[in-house]
Amino acid sequence: MKMSNCAIVGINWGDEGKGRMVDLLTNDYDLVVRYQGGGNAGHTVINKFGKFALHLLPSGIFRPGVVNILGNGVALDPENLWSEMQMVMAQGVALTPENLKISDRASLLMPWHRDLDALEEARLADKKFGSTRQGIAPFYSDKYQKKTVLAGELFYPEKLRAHLQALMEWKNLTLTEVYHAEPYTMEKLEAWLHDACEMIKPYICDTGKVLRQAREDGKSILFEAQLGALRDLDYGIHPYTTSSNPVAAYAPIGAGDPAAKIDEVIGVVKAYSTCVGEGPFTCEWFGPDADQLREVGDEYGAKTGRPRRVGPIDLVATRYGVQTQAATALALTKLDVLSYMKEIPVCARYILNGEETDDFPFPAALDEAKPVLKTLPGWQCDITGVRTWEALPQQAKDYINYIEAAVGCRIKYVSVGPERDSIIIR
Ligand code: GDP
Repeated sequence: MKMSNCAIVGINWGDEGKGRMVDLLTNDYDLVVRYQGGGNAGHTVINKFGKFALHLLPSGIFRPGVVNILGNGVALDPENLWSEMQMVMAQGVALTPENLKISDRASLLMPWHRDLDALEEARLADKKFGSTRQGIAPFYSDKYQKKTVLAGELFYPEKLRAHLQALMEWKNLTLTEVYHAEPYTMEKLEAWLHDACEMIKPYICDTGKVLRQAREDGKSILFEAQLGALRDLDYGIHPYTTSSNPVAAYAPIGAGDPAAKIDEVIGVVKAYSTCVGEGPFTCEWFGPDADQLREVGDEYGAKTGRPRRVGPIDLVATRYGVQTQAATALALTKLDVLSYMKEIPVCARYILNGEETDDFPFPAALDEAKPVLKTLPGWQCDITGVRTWEALPQQAKDYINYIEAAVGCRIKYVSVGPERDSIIIR
């Protein structure tokens, strides 16, 4: 039994490969907890059960004996969660109230949150932020206005109906008068309760109690983040952020045990940069170079299928991400993707206002920043079968050491393929 807690977090824009790292490390932990975000991103996990794009379920769900928790900080979408649960169960994975627990304090993402997301993106037209239309921003706005229903309210049917009626009347004002959309009816909400909420009800419990007990018993907890530091509501590239806090410091709060201590923060960094959606992306490549990297890296969104924007690794943004996450170790993923390059460019610094800088700029200034590129020699051979540091080509070791020195954090894991065992542990 390992008595330490660990958070696995994204250092950049998300899609760094957090899912594969959680899947790899869950063996060492007793519980895996999702503490923020919703079904708007996807963690890809490949293991003996098959290939999965998980949106809400914690990535520990495939390991027997691991308790998986959806904390109070997540955007709990009963419809999407239930479809995801059915998909996973259909592939032979057992989901029971013993291995999957949903916080009774998690707020429910309502069907109108998804409608509002789509209606607002349509209104914004070409000024849109690149929402995945899963209702996440309207959900968190309502949560902070206290205009949501807690999962645990499903156990109080009479109060729940009155609460839903009041929320619906309020929400219909926005739907009909602002967006000229169809209003909701209680019949529609009854169907939602019956088809989705009832299905997840057996899994809802006081997960705070479960976590406190686990802490007292000396059990170890793995906190699983969605998206990365640059998408954090408070620390990311405003307003191109998500509506919650992927930073590790939020994990105990969003998980359900604010007293929990995190001993280790593993920051996941991709060996090059990718970004889904709108907003400044200083290192962006265009044209054939971008197309080639996108193809080789298979950079299409796990949730939306959208082509990701790509570019060389951004050491300025990565250092900021490392600091914001307080990472104690890094996992560098998709190093194998760079094997085709003769020379590998890296963004070493930015130029801003005519001066070179190592500091990540304030969001409003970021548009003006230009990358200062440096190139390192490529290795140009297949490294997908490499399992030890010693067996890596010298150029790959140099590339890793260069990143490590530039961002100020030890790279403990190097991932050379999507499969569970395609990993080098230093
Ligand atoms: P997450 O949201 O941070 O978990 O990241 P995604 O799952 O969206 O994106 C990571 C993608 O890269 C997935 O398709 C993974 O299967 C894949 N992947 C992860 N690590 C590696 C690696 O080292 N090499 C390669 N080739 N693919 C990887």
